[in-house]
Amino acid sequence: MGKIARYLNQLTIGNTFDSPEILEFYSTDRSVLRIKPKAVSLPESTEDVRKLMRFVNQLSAKDIKLPVTVWGSGLDETGAGLSNGLIVSMEKMNKLLESDKRERLVRVQAGITLKELNTALSINGLTLPIGGHDNDTIGSLISNCPSDVYAGKYGSITHFIERIEVVLPTGDAIQTDYLSARNVERLAQEKTAEGSIYKKLNALYKKNEKLIDDIRKNKNETRGYAKVGMALRKKSFDLMPLFFGAQGTLGIITEVILRAVPIESKTGRVVAVFEKFETTQKFMDELKPMQPLELNFYDIKVAKAAEEAGKKLGINTEKYEEGGFVVFAKFDKRINARLNKISTMKKTLPRNAQVIIESTKNLKMLDEFENSLTSYLNQVKAGERVPLATDFYLPSAKLGQFLEDLKVLERSLKLDLALYGSYSAECYNLRPRFDVEDAKFLKNAVAFIRATNFVINREGGSISGGAAEGRVKALVSNMNLSEDERNLYAQIKDIFDPQGIMNPGVKLGADPRFTLTHFRTTGSGKTVL
Ligand SMILES: Cc1cc2nc3c(=O)[nH]c(=O)nc-3n(C[C@H](O)[C@H](O)[C@H](O)COP(=O)(O)OP(=O)(O)OC[C@H]3O[C@@H](n4cnc5c(N)ncnc54)[C@H](O)[C@@H]3O)c2cc1C
Repeated sequence: MGKIARYLNQLTIGNTFDSPEILEFYSTDRSVLRIKPKAVSLPESTEDVRKLMRFVNQLSAKDIKLPVTVWGSGLDETGAGLSNGLIVSMEKMNKLLESDKRERLVRVQAGITLKELNTALSINGLTLPIGGHDNDTIGSLISNCPSDVYAGKYGSITHFIERIEVVLPTGDAIQTDYLSARNVERLAQEKTAEGSIYKKLNALYKKNEKLIDDIRKNKNETRGYAKVGMALRKKSFDLMPLFFGAQGTLGIITEVILRAVPIESKTGRVVAVFEKFETTQKFMDELKPMQPLELNFYDIKVAKAAEEAGKKLGINTEKYEEGGFVVFAKFDKRINARLNKISTMKKTLPRNAQVIIESTKNLKMLDEFENSLTSYLNQVKAGERVPLATDFYLPSAKLGQFLEDLKVLERSLKLDLALYGSYSAECYNLRPRFDVEDAKFLKNAVAFIRATNFVINREGGSISGGAAEGRVKALVSNMNLSEDERNLYAQIKDIFDPQGIMNPGVKLGADPRFTLTHFRTTGSGKTVL
């Protein structure tokens, strides 16, 4: 065991490891990258996290840089949870600490997973309505700020978080709060790490008021510190939104207070298949005002891949030789009324459309349909569907034009591009197959992500609109920033983390050369959902 791991083991209750096997496990997440950390710490309390950060901060003062990256469950698709320094894994900080049933408030440690939280909340008939992976941690949902599949209805993680506790790079802990301008001025006088942050942010806001107000208008963005517009306003400050999408670059979120919603235990589902995009979109536009919990759109190739893998989806995909589109909708309120209305709509649809409405007879089929995306993503026989252009924002009005753009991209890049995503949240993905062992992989991957970014921008979308950019999407998203935005975000980073300790290789700090030299050349075995 090296000196650092040994010292940290003496310092904290939680363990620090540096054995090759453990480092290998934390070298890959769900992204296309492989980056080996020097050590992995598993703190067990905020106090442990503070001690770790104080140690790293002291090292930095001696000019020894040990970058720190937080690890939730390691499901990130952009390499934002990987590090060549110290990984601070939140796996042991997964407790529900307090709950107030009447106010629907809970206080949790940031490493609690969505499944753990929702299991605990369900006892009181509550839930956090985020359509993410069961193992997503609350800290990482804040840090990645994804437009999840329920976001069209419930508005994403930003709507449910009340306050957070953050350990700053200095080891100081702060609790965020909504503060009036007067209180901001008062706090800014205090000679503490927190006071210094308020003082500097106050000055920054005064200099950049117009820019920050403009950034606030763009709600579909997570690049840089795009939620600065929610955090800093003329009459009030709340530091919390700065952490939405910050990917651990400003501090470590250790505790979270969130407000849950009453659980809707029943759902009703619909699957519809169309040949033409225009009819698909018309159908989705009629469903959207019915406020579905999910309203998803898939190229029919996704369903075909699932069938090939053995799934029985109950739709005749062979009818759509020239291509087609699948819509999946799930309702959690006024279910019968919604399903009856869709049943009536069936009569007005083209003859080659297929619509399956949930009944007691087709539950298994619809369950299998819900797993079809997993089949598609894991269709690895001729390459891996590596995440490069995932979770991008695309305005609904431009979806048809974007599909036309994709045909051009398919021809020029010689890739099979099947779009899928959430129509209600306007968040989409492209996961073409690449052979990561092929010598041309890197070149082809870069060409794909560049060209995709270009057409997403042209249609008024953003590659970092549905989740933060991490390392991989930063290859292109940093080029999308204006000089003024770049300066503003660099100053925010500097206010919180002047030594550049916190996850320095992501977002604005991402170094394209480093990212590209860390593309995997073998499978990671972590692509399964
Ligand atoms: C089906 C599926 C769909 C997905 N869709 C999306 C998507 O839409 N968008 C997306 O980005 N990802 C997506 N992912 C990846 C993943 O689910 C999310 O990124 C999720 O937020 C990762 O959770 P995690 O706990 O594993 O976080 P990790 O991968 O461990 O960490 C994610 C990021 O958050 C930071 N972080 C984690 N915890 C903290 C903390 N306590 N304090 C400060 N920073 C912290 C990490 O440093 C890292 O930058 C998807 C994955 C699957 C399987």
